[in-house]
Amino acid sequence: MTRRRWLTLLALLFGPLALAACAPPAPKAASVPAEDRAAIAARLEADIAVLASDAMAGRKPGTEGARVASAWIEQRMGEVGLVSGTNDPGSYWRLPVDLLGVHPETSQLVLTQGRRRVVVPASAAAVFTPRRRALAFGGPGTGVPVVFVGYGDGSVLGDALAGAVAVMLADPGRDTERRDALFRQRATAVLTVVPDGEALAALRAAAERPRLQLASEEADNLAAYITDKAFADVVGARRWAAWKAEAEDGGFTPIELNLSVSIEATSDRREFASQNIIGMIPGSEPGSGAVLVLGHWDHLGECGPPGAFDRICNGAADNASGIAMMLELARRLKAGAPLGRDIYFLATTAEEPGLLGIRAFVKNPPLPLASIVAAFNLDMMAVAPAGSPVGFIGRGKNPALDAEVLAALRRHGRTLGDQSLADSFLMRQDGWALVQADVPAVLLSSTYGSRAILDPFIAARYHQPSDEVAGIELGGAVDDLLLHEDLIRVIADPARYPAKADSRP
Ligand SMILES: [Zn+2]
Repeated sequence: MTRRRWLTLLALLFGPLALAACAPPAPKAASVPAEDRAAIAARLEADIAVLASDAMAGRKPGTEGARVASAWIEQRMGEVGLVSGTNDPGSYWRLPVDLLGVHPETSQLVLTQGRRRVVVPASAAAVFTPRRRALAFGGPGTGVPVVFVGYGDGSVLGDALAGAVAVMLADPGRDTERRDALFRQRATAVLTVVPDGEALAALRAAAERPRLQLASEEADNLAAYITDKAFADVVGARRWAAWKAEAEDGGFTPIELNLSVSIEATSDRREFASQNIIGMIPGSEPGSGAVLVLGHWDHLGECGPPGAFDRICNGAADNASGIAMMLELARRLKAGAPLGRDIYFLATTAEEPGLLGIRAFVKNPPLPLASIVAAFNLDMMAVAPAGSPVGFIGRGKNPALDAEVLAALRRHGRTLGDQSLADSFLMRQDGWALVQADVPAVLLSSTYGSRAILDPFIAARYHQPSDEVAGIELGGAVDDLLLHEDLIRVIADPARYPAKADSRP
């Protein structure tokens, strides 16, 4: 038992007396008595302790720990009184999300100019594909032209490139976009000429980093890379210099090369299903819109250094705390006065590898996105002590929602935190995918209110095995929970908060 747990227990036993002695003063709006705050904290802690236990092994999608975690969340959604939010009679809690992990295995690039056939060594070339195996040939006699496209500015290429192998000059920062544009024009493969071995090594390191993507977003790309020197050695340095000079010219047109290429790669591929989990409290005024509360349930699995005593990244603050807060909010909203609008509670998967679960939700939502009048993301909620300023992520997108948030802050005697700090997290949280889909989405948390609170957490525990239940701080979480409860009651009332169409800027 940790010291902080003793404090919680003391608070429960002796009520306001013990709390007054050892906790910062509760914020003004807390018409909520101190013993209720302690009880809320105890419930949050109990749920965080389960989600952040080693039994769930860091909740990495595709693992047994993740399966146990998502089953437990479904059970808890039922216990707090939610009903299915899938709007699909075939699936009660689950919105399946198909994920794909790809790891490069082998690659080979062979170039033939005239009679000279060169197997480009791995130090000078790399080939990647999301497929288990992909192979492309091009050049004289193959029916597939090999075309030098300069910097690959898509606008000059037109349909001429369909089916070709494109040879493109690297343009750091912009090549990904240009390569994608070439693939959209149905290039069979793109061979990018990079400045040197260092650039190639960086690409290889990026490709080998384990990462997940949505299976629905799989790009069937065969992408090859070669160093400038290796390419010049095959085609001839003078000729290559002349082509590059042409590529710098504004009126550049693609050049078909008398070069044969063979491009091949294999990958280790793993496809598996994970799930978003969604429940709801039906409102008393059907058709009046919905409020969405969300938080990601996934975390990183084992992420400590190899050989470390404890390698499990339990993700207590990130984001067992957000799920615990979602469940407690659901329980309290359900227990209180009836709400006009439907309230959906969405636990997303695969946030850590790039907001994948929420992006799957946006692509295939169980309710019309346009019916969501506001969304509240809960992420890393157990970091700040009570009375901390509130980080307001997503401010400035929807004046009506902003006004209600600021009014709720005033009612609760909360101060607004460092706005530039909060703004810097906009694109790093699930709400971003909603904002991009025109759904008003904010993240209100005392975690992001000041560097004095956030920086020590980032340094000591963020995405590390030390983000354990023993290190969480729930004072700010209780403040933030009460703020959300109040705010959601306002937003859920069609009479107090008009539908989205009326509140748009
Ligand atoms: Zn995280």
